[in-house]
Formats: sequence, C-alpha cells, structure tokens
Amino acid sequence: MEYDIIIGLEIHSELKTQSKVFCGCKNEFGGDPNTQCCPVCLGMPGTLPVLNKTALEYAIKAGLAMNCKISRFSKLDRKNFFYPDMPKAYQISQYDLPICYDGYVDIEVNGETKRIGIERIHIEEDAGKLVHDPYGQGTLIDYNRCGVPLIEIVTRPDIRSPEEARILFETIKSILEYTEVSDCRMQEGSIRADVNLSIRPKGTEAFGVRTEMKNLNSFRSVQRAAEAEAKRQAEVLRKGGVVIQETRRWDDNKGESFSMRGKEEAMDYRYFPEPDLVPIVVDDEWLESIKRSIPELPQSRRDRYINELGIPRYDANLITMNKRVADMFDAAVAVCGNAKTVSNWIMTDIMRRINDKGEAVLDSPLNGKRFGEILLFLEKGEITQASAKKVMDEVIETGAEPSEIIEKRGLKVQRDENLVLDAVRKVIQSNPQAFNDYVSGKEKAFGFLMGRVMGELKGKGDPAQVKEVLTRELQAASS
Ligand code: ADP
Ligand code: MG
Ligand code: ZN
Repeated sequence: MEYDIIIGLEIHSELKTQSKVFCGCKNEFGGDPNTQCCPVCLGMPGTLPVLNKTALEYAIKAGLAMNCKISRFSKLDRKNFFYPDMPKAYQISQYDLPICYDGYVDIEVNGETKRIGIERIHIEEDAGKLVHDPYGQGTLIDYNRCGVPLIEIVTRPDIRSPEEARILFETIKSILEYTEVSDCRMQEGSIRADVNLSIRPKGTEAFGVRTEMKNLNSFRSVQRAAEAEAKRQAEVLRKGGVVIQETRRWDDNKGESFSMRGKEEAMDYRYFPEPDLVPIVVDDEWLESIKRSIPELPQSRRDRYINELGIPRYDANLITMNKRVADMFDAAVAVCGNAKTVSNWIMTDIMRRINDKGEAVLDSPLNGKRFGEILLFLEKGEITQASAKKVMDEVIETGAEPSEIIEKRGLKVQRDENLVLDAVRKVIQSNPQAFNDYVSGKEKAFGFLMGRVMGELKGKGDPAQVKEVLTRELQAASS
C-alpha cells in the first residue's frame, strides 16, 4: 500500500537578547558552568520574574515576518513537570493565548512555491543542561541556559515530505536570521526542531497517529529522521500493527530512532496562568514601530536578485537563504561589478567550502570585499581561474590581501607573446605523438597540448591567448 506523509514541525529558537527572559543574567553561550545564574533563574523560593521587553519584541517581530496575527492581549502560563534541568519544576510558557498565531511561511520546493501554515508562536524559557560525566560518576547540571528566552514556532501539519520539512526548517532559520532575533547557531543548539509525523493510506483524508522526534539540530537530521520514521511507520502498518503515539529519540549516528516515552497530553502539565507576571498588552504604537523595524526578508531579496540582477531563480534562492552568504554576495558585487560572475563563484566555490568546512568559512578573512577583489582580477583577465582559487585559499589561511598574494606569488597572467610562443613550440617539439594525433584529426590531442603549454607557463597563461597561439603554430607546423 502507498502512504502519504504528514508532518508538522515545532521549532525552538533562542532569542539573542542581552539578558535572560525573566532576570538580569547575561544571555550568553558558553561560560563556566553555573556562572550566569541568579536566584530568579535558579528558581529559588520567593523570587519574582520580570518579563524582558526585548524578548517580547523579538517574538512579535518573528511573528510578523511569518505573517502571523499578533495577540493584543496575552499572558504567560506555568507548564508543570519535574525534570532536573528545570529547577522550578515548572516552565514559564504560553498556553491558550500565544503572542502570535495564524500565520504562514512560503517555501520553495523544486521551483514551486508552497505555503505552510504557522499555527502559533509563543514565548517561553529554556532549561539548563545535563552534563553526563564521562567517567560515569553521575550527571552534573549547568544552569547557565536556564531562563534564556525562546520562541516556539508550531506549524500546521501541512508538510508532505521529509524534503519539505528540511526546506521549511531552512526557510524559518533564514527568516529568524534576517530579522536578527536569533543568531541561529545550530552547533550551539540555539535552534532545534521537533518532527511530528504520521502517515495515511493514499487517497484517504483522516490523519494517522503521529510520533514526535525531539531536538533535531541540523537540516540533514530533520530530513533523515523524517525519512526513517515514515519508513518505520509504513513497516508497522504493513505488518498489521498500529502506530503508538509516543516521543522518540533520533540517533543521528545510528540513523534510527528509539522510543523514549508515551506522549504527554496538555492535561498532564496542569497549565495555569503564571500568577507572578502581569498579562501582556500590545498597543498600536508599539506594534507599528516593530513592523517598521522589519528589514528586507529573504523572499523579496531573492526576487530582487532574479529581476534586477538576472540571477537564475535556483541560485538566487540558495544565496539569499543564508543572510551572511547574501551579504557576501552584495559586498562582492559592489567591488567586482559582475553579479553573474559573483553568483557563479558563490554557487560553486563558496558553497563547496561551506559544505566541507561549515559556516565558519563565513567568519574567515575571505569577506565579500576580498572575494570581490579576487573576482575583479579574474574579470580583467589578470589572473586565471586556478589562480583565483589559490588566492582564495591563501586569504582564508593567512588573512593577507588578494593583491599582495598575487604579487608575492607572481600569479599575474603571463601575456608576453614571445614567452607564450616559446612554450608552444617547445611543447609541440617534445610531444610528437600528440602532434601527429592532432594532425590526423584527433580533437583530444589539442586539449592535451593546451594543458602542457599551461603547465609550461606554470598555470599563468591566458587560456584564450594560449589557445590562439597554439592553433596558429599547429597549423603552421602541419602544413
Ligand atoms: P502538542 O502540543 O501536543 O505537541 P499539537 O496539536 O500542538 O500537539 O501539534 C504539535 C505538532 O504536531 C504541530 O506541528 C502539528 O502540525 C503536528 N501534528 C498534529 N497532528 C499531526 C498528525 N496527525 N500528523 C503529523 N503531524 C501532526
Ligand atoms: Mg509538542
Ligand atoms: Zn538569572
């Protein structure tokens, strides 16, 4: 039997405010364990929380960027549960009146736009971190992350494939980066997704029972976890079993998920309004000023690249998805002038570097300006493609300026007609076999000879000039 896949994501993202959400402690990643806490975020009896206005502003900003309605009156609620990383034994969250609701995000799947509903975005506090002692002595707790402001974005079950789930996660991360409400450092866990997934026989309407996989912190793992879970559920149904509603833990190394616990119902948390905080009222003036603070979003930047710069849709989409890559693109175009050259190099060279080495490449000395300078040398024919790559490597490694590297390494293209002619003659003389092949009409031999001449010129020849001189000399020698 064939099945449809139904997915809804819950995405948690830390907000990059200066201080925590209910106290004045610094909101900073790292730091020695338990050095960024106070009686409030440690949940000491008798302490009182005060809501961080910037956290609220960021949540509203994220909501507006995802086309949500904003609650003009909302409140915070207590979600009660016992777990050692949450010292109060409850989490301050929002239950029935989330700050944002009823929005949508458009995603680009195989060149087509698809709309995914956003059910709600609410504000809550993060928990501490359990550190399992590597020597097996027990578990330690670091409370630094307690009280870090979070938003939880809950999508409607509109996602129909693991690929769409990944793209939606990428798109939401991108929107959060553009609005600058979160730094979205995935390796630090500042954005993570829960994947809710069910399947149903093709052609039927009713949703099946869903499972939830918690805390996926990479695009790849969201897609892989969804693929594996859809397969697992289909397997269960095929064998005549039933899917159990439960929370599962995805093991990215093993490539499979394991049952953790039965799913909690809202009732289990005994939600009630947080009595230590006043309700939230958002007035017109404040809402308007937050609206005005929203910068250009990835979609409109993409459309601008397509319509004004002539960048292919696929490329424009990929470049604008990552704000820092798009900023690099803009800075490079400002220097180099040719948007298409810059986009081609980003799509190949920079994307490859990001794939190999991660986004840290974007913090390297190869910024947009230096990248643009290198491409300008290339555009003017002063260096070859191979040299451009070399210069980029060296900028990343040493932080030196492109012009200095080109000078020091003697990478300027060799255009001296006599030198090129010498190299061509030498190559023809020392490769009689290839020469004969060429004369007898074997096209491949030309490429071989061309490569030899470039080698002779230490890769610094201008390909167009070498080609022209080589063609001329070959014709002269064979007639
Ligand atoms: P809870 O708060 O108990 O986790 P919600 O109803 O708020 O449950 O849904 C959580 C997430 O699960 C949402 O993203 C929603 O889209 C998704 N979801 C709900 N029902 C299904 C289903 N049958 N299959 C897949 N996803 C679902
Ligand atoms: Mg849930
Ligand atoms: Zn504190």
